Amino acid sequence: MAQLSPLLKQATPVVVDHGEGVYLYDVDGKRHLDFTAGIGVTSTGHCHPRVVEAAREQIGKLVHGQYTTVMHKPLLELTEKLGTVLPSRLDSLFYANSGSEAVEAALRLARQATKRPNVIVFQGGFHGRTVAAASMTTSGTRFSAGISPLMAGVHVAPFPYAYHYGWDQDTATKFALRELDYLFQTVSAPSETAALFVEPVLGEGGYVPANTEFFAGLRERADRHGILLVLDEVQTGFGRTGKFWGHDHYDVSPDIVLIAKGLASGFPLSGIAASQELMAKALPGSQGGTYGGNAVSCAAAVATLDVIRDEGLVENAAERGRQLLEGAQVVADKTPAIGDVRGLGLLVGTEFTTADGEPDTATAQAVQHAAARSGLLLLTCGAYSNVVRMVPPLVVTSDQVDEALRIWGDVV
Ligand code: PLP
Repeated sequence: MAQLSPLLKQATPVVVDHGEGVYLYDVDGKRHLDFTAGIGVTSTGHCHPRVVEAAREQIGKLVHGQYTTVMHKPLLELTEKLGTVLPSRLDSLFYANSGSEAVEAALRLARQATKRPNVIVFQGGFHGRTVAAASMTTSGTRFSAGISPLMAGVHVAPFPYAYHYGWDQDTATKFALRELDYLFQTVSAPSETAALFVEPVLGEGGYVPANTEFFAGLRERADRHGILLVLDEVQTGFGRTGKFWGHDHYDVSPDIVLIAKGLASGFPLSGIAASQELMAKALPGSQGGTYGGNAVSCAAAVATLDVIRDEGLVENAAERGRQLLEGAQVVADKTPAIGDVRGLGLLVGTEFTTADGEPDTATAQAVQHAAARSGLLLLTCGAYSNVVRMVPPLVVTSDQVDEALRIWGDVV
């Protein structure tokens, strides 16, 4: 009899039957408060009626219309809609299925457009598991273990992770930018550097926001050296941080934005947005894939964008995010094992540390499992998996945040 790979064995297995809003219901009828949102994907909640209806209607009409052969309406409609929420400079879109594929598409475009080989990524960044994306991922050795040789031409600069360095945000930012300049001087000359790939908030790396000065520093250096600034908004886009884009918090203008996850409420869809001028520099045949821009996914994405707008989900993410962060802070204040609580919108991370300030993976995982037994689904992240993160659907209500905080307080 076939069995699941051991990699899919979970410590606290939940076999889900169906989902509704912020809740998942397992096959035994137990209700789980889903503060994972399928790793930040089900932005409009599980099975939002308008998303379900849009997908159902589309399935009856056209499931797959391969986009280098024919064009279909949902893809055109989605492109038009994304144009209303993207920075106006980024008026050209290309689609794929997963975040990793979007990362690779941007990497190809950046290298082709600049004719430079190198990319700089930021320590603790996560960009995916395909080999190129894993080569650009530094949020844990587990993501690239055993798959070497990795892609050449990737260099790593520090991210201003103030808590990790034990500094204030300003000092961490100054350090990160100084080290980036040093990197240009020592291992990746600007004339060899195609792009900087950075997340507005380190996601898998531990839910670490940065500040305006850091992104202004990146923009200034990118402009000075003709390097592209690529913002990986795979986890932070579509209202997740309490503004439409994560980079809206820093008032920075990107050259390429990567989108996925919350875009289509759970249907596989990703993309890259750039200016027409930049996108035109991609070489024919180098971009694309059989399933990119799937018609049902695009229809679900159109409905998702409508729901985000009509239900004020960006504003809700900001308000509920504040409530969640404040509540998590209250719990942290009473808990010596918690070193830091941080976040932006509905990305809230609690970092567990020992009395000596060392990463405390065991406690983080014990808390995660205890929460799951109490009906609250959570994930860990960070290089040491010692950060417990809360990333609920953007439709979460004040009462549901209180419910999660009650369980959180008890299990912690
Ligand atoms: N980029 C970021 C910032 C992510 O958080 C992720 C996934 O978590 C990816 C890229 C990779 O996306 P996928 O798992 O869809 O390939």
